Amino acid sequence: MSKTIIITGVAGFLGSHLAAALLQTPGTSVIGLDNLSTGKLENIQALLQLPSFRFIPYDVANPDVLHICGTAPIHEIYHLASPASPKFYQAAPFDTISVNIDGTKNMLELARRTGAKLLYTSTSEAYGDPEVHPQDEAYRGNVNTWGPRACYDEAKRMGEVLCYLYFSAYHVPVKVARIFNTYSAGLRNDDGRVISNFVTQALAGQDLTVYGDGTQTRSFCYVTDTVRGLMLMMEKEEANGEMINIGNPIEYRILDVAHLVKQLAASGSRITYHPLPQDDPKVRRPVIEKAKRLLGWEPKVTLEQGLQHTISSYRAKSITS
Ligand code: NAD
Ligand code: UDP
Repeated sequence: MSKTIIITGVAGFLGSHLAAALLQTPGTSVIGLDNLSTGKLENIQALLQLPSFRFIPYDVANPDVLHICGTAPIHEIYHLASPASPKFYQAAPFDTISVNIDGTKNMLELARRTGAKLLYTSTSEAYGDPEVHPQDEAYRGNVNTWGPRACYDEAKRMGEVLCYLYFSAYHVPVKVARIFNTYSAGLRNDDGRVISNFVTQALAGQDLTVYGDGTQTRSFCYVTDTVRGLMLMMEKEEANGEMINIGNPIEYRILDVAHLVKQLAASGSRITYHPLPQDDPKVRRPVIEKAKRLLGWEPKVTLEQGLQHTISSYRAKSITS
């Protein structure tokens, strides 16, 4: 059966990987929307050659977005548009709020009008600096409205509220993925998130910049695992009206990640310590029982394997560019 899928944020890290994966299925067409604020055309260069892929440079927070996708039936909407790196969302807090609130409402409205299913990429940041560890979906979080992360965390939470309302009031088949730190090649070198920083620094022989004492933890999921989780959520009816953690439940201290990157990249870089950003969550690890039960999903790629791929790709890119 032929299928038309919209991906917002298609030129970003996750969006470009997701589009490439979806276009593997014959009969699938993807319409990608992106305002290129943090994404890059380079990420979708190969896709732009495909007749099954159409790119529309557009701000999804603009209500006119409802009219620009044409009249073709739309079957699925993956709404990913939003800066995700603290560096970028803190540099554009109002745009971050707007894309997650106005943009999400626009996409939900498009889903309601076309009968499409919609998946919204929320975040582990919805748990804030968690007081319950590890985090399952029933935990309501510990988010600060009065600080530099609030524009992202609270906007994502409001995006979830809109999803809930469209599901309960209009019966739109909505799914919310709470994604935990995902990485791989494809993250911009200047993305600012920890894996792109450490890998870029290790390969350039620069200091690896650990914030705080490095005892804070994160759980890192390789992009192919995350993308497979998102596709399963879209596919499974059991995920309608559900909020599901998508992440790797193996937790690492950031300092240990720095040592691992150094070792795998055979880098002589030093590790240096810098102030911990305000409200930086101290721990983060998903409970993924719900994803296992409803989707039959769990991650397959270990951090060591994923970092090896990531380091090789960054190395190859730095040689060719
Ligand atoms: P990214 O910054 O690489 O990609 C986001 C894309 O959205 C970019 O291409 C950007 O140009 C686009 N965009 C931003 N505002 C837009 C707007 N108003 N209109 C159209 N396009 C717009 O980030 P990513 O890592 O690929 O994250 C994708 C989604 O997944 C985000 O919603 C993010 O919050 C969520 N998420 C990601 C992670 C992760 O670890 N990567 C973790 C949790 C949640
Ligand atoms: N971090 C770090 N050095 C860096 C970048 C990030 O020590 O160069 C830390 C950051 O303080 C946080 C963790 O790594 O504790 C993950 O940060 P990232 O920005 O990747 O994502 P977050 O999970 O905080 O949104």
